[in-house]
Order: sequence, then structure tokens, then C-alpha cells
Amino acid sequence: MGIKYRMLAFFALFLFIFIIPAMASAEKHVIIDPGHGGKYAGTTGYSGNSTGYFEKHANLDVSIKLKKILQNQGYKVDMTRETDKHFSASSSSADLTARMRVANKFVEEGNRNNTIFISVHHNSIPSDPSMRGFETYFFDINNGIDSTYPPDPIQIDSSPESKRLANTLHTNVLKYVPVSEGRGIISNNLYVTRNAQMPSALVEVGYMSNPAEEKLIKTSSFQQKAAEGLAKGINNYFNVYEVYNYKNERVKTYESKSNALAYAKSRNNVYVFDKSRQSIIYSNIDGDYEVYHVSKGLLEDSFVTENDAIKYAKKWKNTYILNEETGEIIWSNYLSKNYLVEHTAKGTIYKAYNDKAAINYAQEWKNTKVIDKKTGDLIWSNYLDKNYSVVHAAKGEIYKAFNENAAIDYAKGWKNTKVINSNTGEILWSNYLAKNFTVEHASKGELYVAYDEVTAINYAKDWKNTKVVNKETGEILWSNYLDTTYAVKHVAKGEIYGSFSEEEAIDYAEGWLNTSVINRKTGEILWSNYLESTYAVKHVAKGEIYGSFSEEEAIDYAEGWLNTSVINRKTGEILWSNYLDSTYVVEHTAKGEIYGSFSEEEAIEYAKEWLNTAVKVRETGEIIWSNY
Ligand SMILES: [Zn+2]
Repeated sequence: MGIKYRMLAFFALFLFIFIIPAMASAEKHVIIDPGHGGKYAGTTGYSGNSTGYFEKHANLDVSIKLKKILQNQGYKVDMTRETDKHFSASSSSADLTARMRVANKFVEEGNRNNTIFISVHHNSIPSDPSMRGFETYFFDINNGIDSTYPPDPIQIDSSPESKRLANTLHTNVLKYVPVSEGRGIISNNLYVTRNAQMPSALVEVGYMSNPAEEKLIKTSSFQQKAAEGLAKGINNYFNVYEVYNYKNERVKTYESKSNALAYAKSRNNVYVFDKSRQSIIYSNIDGDYEVYHVSKGLLEDSFVTENDAIKYAKKWKNTYILNEETGEIIWSNYLSKNYLVEHTAKGTIYKAYNDKAAINYAQEWKNTKVIDKKTGDLIWSNYLDKNYSVVHAAKGEIYKAFNENAAIDYAKGWKNTKVINSNTGEILWSNYLAKNFTVEHASKGELYVAYDEVTAINYAKDWKNTKVVNKETGEILWSNYLDTTYAVKHVAKGEIYGSFSEEEAIDYAEGWLNTSVINRKTGEILWSNYLESTYAVKHVAKGEIYGSFSEEEAIDYAEGWLNTSVINRKTGEILWSNYLDSTYVVEHTAKGEIYGSFSEEEAIEYAKEWLNTAVKVRETGEIIWSNY
């Protein structure tokens, strides 16, 4: 029902916009032509010249009375003449030509169907004063076209209406005037009727050559009755229901409203015009097709059929046709079919010029989605979720969309909104939040900034050696390398790589200058291309036997030996020794202390292996043995 009402509303709108303007001046319009005038007197009647009252006077008197009646009834009335004048002095035929030029100028384009022409005359056959009665003339196309006196092409089209006008005038005037019917309704090729560019008729109200009728014709009361009869005939002419097609071509004319409606309802794209009330009383016109040009915009609207629209659109380059009712672009000579309807099982089942057309098609299936081929955006689906939600700071979720762009477009219409991927929780866009979460790469620096931690981490995961930092607090929120065992540190950049393999860390470090590899857990420097090791293991006799960046490691190494010490190379400080606090010391005359021991016996045995040695008590300096 909703759609139906909408359709009706649309029709009403359509009619006002597109049809009414065509009848912008829609009103019943009568052009009255009082015959003869000025130097062309018409018949002088049975009484002859001396009376001074000729046909031209009677024609004008009836016409003026008719004008007044019609105007009171709401008609628009024009007259070819309202005074006793002629239109051309040169000849009566030139007069007729000029007269019809005046008459046809009154026709308003677009209102021709509501305009009629009536020429008022009085008849005369001087040779037969007994001839009498009322006659009506019209141009009848059924009589064929006389090539010597060709009718105006518009009159050819109007001929059926001219016939109808002649009929309504004739039958009604006869009810009003006390004259008999003369020769009835006569189809004839008179100059004025055949050249009127609208339905036309010419009436001969009576015979002025008949003495009785001449007397009547000269009376105001008779003229009034004739005028009333003519007005009644005109009323009846307009009292019909016309059925028009969407091109505003009249298809049928009915005297009965119900017959007109019944006919119209059996047809497509027609409307019924109440000619008397000048209003459209029914329409089923559905001119949905609009032709657009890429730069000029709307070229033509309300084509009823696709074919008509396409025929028109093809006259241009860069046009497309929009079905205004469905929103579908149904044809184009420049657009691509970028909107794909994809079925879960069947793949791409349809391609369309615009989203609306694709969605409409997709809706007829289950398990379909519409994709914008250009952007890759999911436009619509009947099985996928709308994963992009627009959240307002105060109102919460206010919109859901199938794709990010659509959600952002919507969110932009508000203040204090953000767009969230409801699957991942990522904040994709916001017009009030700050991008506080940075993804930093160990060597490349800042890669990305995000509105939230989740988005930043998701982004960081696509890389190695990244960390997510809260820009405001400086806090490291996540990293995929800071928990590795081996860190490659650059002398200036700091940590630039992390690895669980020492070898890989060194490989990486070798690609740089001024790097070292450090065991993150022990702090030990495992490799460096710029540092000398800090800790030296020295053997009392062999001198330096090991270097290490780690004190602990140096001690570990030194413990594998006797008589070793660990020295901080930079400060000279002895950090550890397994002999320097021993009780007995073996001294060589040249080398100085060469051994230490806590046993006197062991010290002497060692000393015996050398020349020029002595064994002393370390604390007192007392010599307890010597071989020199
Ligand atoms: Zn005449």
C-alpha cells in the first residue's frame, strides 16, 4: 500500500510539473468571428440597402451578446472584430486572409485543445426568399482535400473536433431560436473554417433574404436567444472527458465520465481530462525515465518507456538514463558497469551501472552481496553483517554500514562521531578523537598513528620489529621484538632489531656500522663492530686469555682456570681473582708474582719448576723458600 500511495503522490506531482505546464493557460478559449465588417457588409437582406442594417451588423450584435454570456461563464473570449471594420480593403478574399491571421494569433500554444473558432453569419438567397432556417458549416476531412483550396494542416487534425463542435452548436441553437432547421449541418470547404488552426464552425443563424426571419434577426431578443443557443452549444462541446496519452495526444473523447475512466483504466500511460472543469481527473502515466548528460545534468525527464528514453539519449554522447522510480541507471553510453552482484556460490551474477540497480537485482537472490569494483567496497549484502558502525559520543551507535567509506560519509554529517569496525573493535575514523597511538618500527621510526590501541596493534602486527606507543604517556603498549633474547643496538639509534637467535641478530647487526648485539636478559654484549670488550680475564702467567663485554661471563671463564683475575679494562680495577688473596706467593726475579696458593707445599713445588724463584708469605713478606 505504501508504495501505491507513493506512486499516486508521484503521479500527482508528475502531472503538475509536466502536464499542467503544457496547459499552463488551461482555460476554455473561444474566438468569435463576426462575419464581414467595414466595407464588406454581407447580405443586405430582403429589405435591401435602404435599411442601413446589414448582415455585418447582425453578426456583430449576436457575437457581442455571445461574448458576454461566455465571459460570465468563465470562458476566455477573443473576437476578430468588435467594431464595424474590415481587415483588408483590397478585396474580400484578402480580408478573409487577414481576418484568419488575426484569429489564429489568439491561439495560445499549449492550449490549442481548449480553443475553438466560431464565425457568425446570416444567410441570403435573394432569388428564393422562401429559403429559411439555421445552418452550421464545418471543414470535414472526410470530404478529402481540395488542392485548389487546401486547408491548414492543423485544421485537418482538428476536423473531428470541428465536426463535434458543429453538432453541439447546431442542436443547441435550434432549441433556442424560433427558426426551423435549414439545410442542417453542412461539411464544406469555407475559407475561415478550413484555415482556423483549431476546431472551427461557421453558423448561419437565419436567412435575411426571408422576410420573416429578417425581421426576427434584427431584434435584440432573437439575437440574445441565438447567442444563448450558441453558448449552450459551446458548453456542450466542452462538456466531455478526453483521454490523452503521455505525449499529450488525445486518444478518445467521451461524453460519459465513467466510460472515459473505464477506457483509461484499461490502458497504460493515459490520463483523463475533464474538459469542462479543465482538470485532470485520472492518470496512470508513469514517466519514470530521465535522461542525464554528464556535464549538462538532466536533459529530459518523464519518458514513459525505456525505448523512448534510449532513443533520445543516443542523440548525445555521455548520457545515461535513470529510472526515477527505482533509482536505477538502466542505460549509459559512457558509464561502466562497476557494481557487481556476487553470489556466494555462483560468483558474479550481474553487473550494474549504479549501486541501486545492483542492489535491486541482488535483493531477488539469497546470499548475495554488491561490490563497488572501483573501490572494492562492500555496498550491500543480505548475508553479511554491517560491520562498520558510526558511534556518537553521547548517543552511542547511530548507523551501521557495510563499508568503511559509507560509514565515514554518514559520520561526517555529525559532530563527535567515530567509525568503528565492530569485528575488530578498531576505530577507523573520528572527528573528535586524537590519534594518540603510534606504531614505531625499530629502524624506520613512526609508521602509523591510530585513534586507539587496538587499531595500532593490528597495524603493527603486519610488521616485524614494531612497537605501539601511547604518544601521551610514552608507555610502550605492545611490541613484537622487545621481548626477544637478542637485541641489536645502534650507537646512535638505540635498539634497531630484536631476535630470538644470536646468529640472526649478528647477521642483522653486520649490515650496520656501530652496532652491538646484546643478550637482553643478561645485559651481556655478545658482538660489536665498534666496542672493545670491557672485561679482560688475565692469567697470572699467560696474561690476557679472554675478553668479554660481560663481567659475569668473564668471571665464569676465569673460574675455569687457576691464577686468573678479571679486570675492567677501562678502569684497571681488579673485579675478581682466584689467587690474589692466597696465603703463599711465588715470585720470579724478573716476572714478579707468578703463582699463588693456599698451601705452602704446593707453592714450593710450583716454584721448583722455575729458576730464580722465591716463595713468600703474602701478608708478612717472609721468604720461606728460594732457589736463588
Ligand atoms: Zn456572411
